[in-house]
Amino acid sequence: MRKIVLFLLLISFSFLSSKAQNTPKIHTVGAMKDMGTTYPLEVWLDTLPDKSNMFAMGPYDKMKGEITVFDGKPFFATAFVKDMGVVSQSWDIRSPFFVYSNVKDWEEFTLNGPFNSTQEIQEKVAALAISKGYDQKEPFAFRIAGKFNQITAHIVTPRSPEIEGYRPDVKSQKFFLENNNGELLGFYSEQHQGIFTGSNSFVHIHFLKDDQTFMGHLDEITSGTQSYKLYLPKKQALVKTVMQVNDTDFSKGRLGNIQNIDLDDLVKFHGHLCDGLVVGHLALQRAMQELYSDGIVDRTNTRIVSKASPCLTDAAIYLTGGRYQFNTFYISNNMDALFTVQRIDTQRAVAVHMKKGLKPMEIDQLGAMVVKGELSACDLDKLKGMEDNFTELLLSTDPKDNFTLTEITDFKWSPVLKNDYIKTDILNKNKTKCQ
Ligand SMILES: [Zn+2]
Ligand SMILES: [Zn+2]
Repeated sequence: MRKIVLFLLLISFSFLSSKAQNTPKIHTVGAMKDMGTTYPLEVWLDTLPDKSNMFAMGPYDKMKGEITVFDGKPFFATAFVKDMGVVSQSWDIRSPFFVYSNVKDWEEFTLNGPFNSTQEIQEKVAALAISKGYDQKEPFAFRIAGKFNQITAHIVTPRSPEIEGYRPDVKSQKFFLENNNGELLGFYSEQHQGIFTGSNSFVHIHFLKDDQTFMGHLDEITSGTQSYKLYLPKKQALVKTVMQVNDTDFSKGRLGNIQNIDLDDLVKFHGHLCDGLVVGHLALQRAMQELYSDGIVDRTNTRIVSKASPCLTDAAIYLTGGRYQFNTFYISNNMDALFTVQRIDTQRAVAVHMKKGLKPMEIDQLGAMVVKGELSACDLDKLKGMEDNFTELLLSTDPKDNFTLTEITDFKWSPVLKNDYIKTDILNKNKTKCQ
């Protein structure tokens, strides 16, 4: 039982981290398994709408060779003459199946050699991607750059006499390369077998020599023991959580210390990532965007009334700079809104509400049971799973749809001192594990 719960927790956590961040989408046209013997051409590269930073691969035309698009440059290679590979460039080419992705920013990692097969590349890339927080269930492109001891690569050749470049009884031309600098471009997917990977592989890899005199489909490799540069697509948060703030620059300083604060910073301040914290962060981001339309928030010029929850209050004081002891922060549960935020110089005040029905009711129901001490250790884990899913929803849907702003024209600042709220996020701090 314990194992099952741990497993479920792991699932919900990886779900959370993967959905809060994503990598550029992989597109496919046609499929390896549907080429038959006639190789119908499914895509004309010229017609693809966005070629910027495109990385792609597929066969060239009716098996006339290989296509590799490298950062928006469309290379195609043919081997119409024995042992002679020819690399050209054009968008005016077609392919029976094609996989592509537009990757603007890459993250650089170190991949240690040796790797001596495509299978080993697949395993090493997956392991590194997982360790860096990538979701290997989602397809992604990767690149490996360096000097490779030995590479065997092929360029396919036409299968029927009416196609240009046909050579009887030759289906592809193998090339053997030694000590070449270049880059491997790969597509990794656990769900595209028969589409763009073989039936027992999760990768499709092409090799391009640095001097662009050779390009082909990778068959065999003996890398070398040195380290290589591995590039993975940079992850992007689906919802922008960063906020620019203008603070003073020393203990008696002036405004002008402009810095970015992000959800991660708030998480460290608060102690953990939770749904309430994300609600607070996104709700306040909305309010501050409204009050500071130039995009830079002045935390010395803002005061706030917050609901009492430990998550919302932490978000309130961190993001607005409001503090109880300076009369710029107090708590009220006698309002509909999560927060009412006021810009002091203009006196403009807005209230932020979360859309009704957005938060699953069970979360609050189970939350109320926690306060009464009625929730078992295992139910607690269930609640965490629900909250993580809600967090994921918040971070993958437009905050403009989830939070509404109301202008408060007759806002009255009525601070109260009250310090007997229950800090609900520490009630179970010594609770035993779910057995
Ligand atoms: Zn290929
Ligand atoms: Zn919390």
